[in-house]
Amino acid sequence: MKRVVVVGGGAAGFFAAINIKEKSPEHEVIILEKTKKVLQKVRVSGGGRCNVTNGRSLPGELIKFYPRGGKKLYKLIEKFGTTDMQRWLDDHGVPTHIENDLRVFPASNTSQTIIDCFLGNAQALGIQVILDTPLMSLIQADDMWMVNCPKAQYETDAVVIATGSSPQFLKKLVSLNLKVNPGVPSLFTFHISDKRIKGLQGIAFPNVSLKVAGTKLSESGPMLITHWGLSGPSILKLSSWGARELATSDYQFVLIVNYLSISYEECRTRLQELVRSSPKKKLMNHSFEQLPKRFWTHLIETLNLQDKTTGELGKQALNKLSEELTQAHFDVTGKSAFKEEFVTCGGVDLSEVDLSTLESKKHDGLFFSGEVLDIDALTGGFNFQACWSASWAISEFLEKQKKGNDT
Ligand SMILES: Cc1cc2nc3c(=O)[nH]c(=O)nc-3n(C[C@H](O)[C@H](O)[C@H](O)COP(=O)(O)OP(=O)(O)OC[C@H]3O[C@@H](n4cnc5c(N)ncnc54)[C@H](O)[C@@H]3O)c2cc1C
Repeated sequence: MKRVVVVGGGAAGFFAAINIKEKSPEHEVIILEKTKKVLQKVRVSGGGRCNVTNGRSLPGELIKFYPRGGKKLYKLIEKFGTTDMQRWLDDHGVPTHIENDLRVFPASNTSQTIIDCFLGNAQALGIQVILDTPLMSLIQADDMWMVNCPKAQYETDAVVIATGSSPQFLKKLVSLNLKVNPGVPSLFTFHISDKRIKGLQGIAFPNVSLKVAGTKLSESGPMLITHWGLSGPSILKLSSWGARELATSDYQFVLIVNYLSISYEECRTRLQELVRSSPKKKLMNHSFEQLPKRFWTHLIETLNLQDKTTGELGKQALNKLSEELTQAHFDVTGKSAFKEEFVTCGGVDLSEVDLSTLESKKHDGLFFSGEVLDIDALTGGFNFQACWSASWAISEFLEKQKKGNDT
């Protein structure tokens, strides 16, 4: 019999432990959890509903949602992907449903269902869950691992590290001579204090184009004005893809917003058509393209054009208006977490692990799954899917290894 110690009672840890035990029932499987409660992030995930995976199923399509680690996840997702996870949940008594935007939730619409499923299965399989037991250090001796915690030591054949993005713990891994990339936030909104968006919170734009000045970072999609600045899918995607670069700038950078996703020249031509069509009408009383009315009137006021008719617009005003609509420069002065959904990028560099088994290349019997790895994704259930795919691969490998030893 083998003993497997899983460090971390989160999504990745529980999914690894359950699948290891299901595939290899003779193994003794123990979960060590630092705090007094397990599955805390699952509980709050997806606004309490747990966006457990995504409705997209092709690995090539899925990996586009991972700013870091996507390509390397391809094979893992191919082996255990989003439909496999939905089937797994269904087989374990948790039906799911797919929403229009392709996010997948438990049919009950509460994360408690996932927690109950994991806890119930772990208990039924005889997996020991030991709380209040932080891993302090790991020592490899011959074929065994010594897992050192403050009140106990565990000798084990295999260790699965599923400790999430805890920066303190990552520091400990450095002593195992593993390359660990420092953690920085991913998925955040931008702080901007600017009279052009002041008082406009709640206004949404269906399709803006964004650029970070002086970089290659760009994004497009819906955007929202908030109390603090800018948010919405395009901003969140930009924050995720640019996580490292924006951290280097200490979140002080210039954001260029194109509200209409058309060129400056095209915008100017369309404004000239407006002038031609009704030159006597006040600019304020027009609507332009699909711009929200409140935003349009506020912009006209900010440019001090509120008393002008369209016909009175000079060349300079037309240029300025086109510029503000297609190349508005904003000084970003900081960031905020998105609905407390702080995802961190960073972690064990993927070059450190065999990507089909998640075993350390330097240390036999040491595995990694979940946020502890340098993989992170946009919102939509992709972060959990990375946990499921990696933990599944570990359980498959340990099963194969056991079969190899048996024969
Ligand atoms: C508010 C919020 C909402 C989210 N919503 C979604 C969503 O709907 N869909 C989605 O795909 N993703 C979501 N995410 C991201 C997702 O929750 C994470 O990617 C996922 O939980 C990572 O799981 P994990 O098991 O790797 O890490 P964690 O869930 O962080 O679990 C790690 C566990 O290890 C324990 N631990 C740490 N150090 C030690 C140690 N030294 N010894 C023992 N134990 C230790 C921790 O206490 C913790 O219990 C959300 C994140 C947040 C913060």
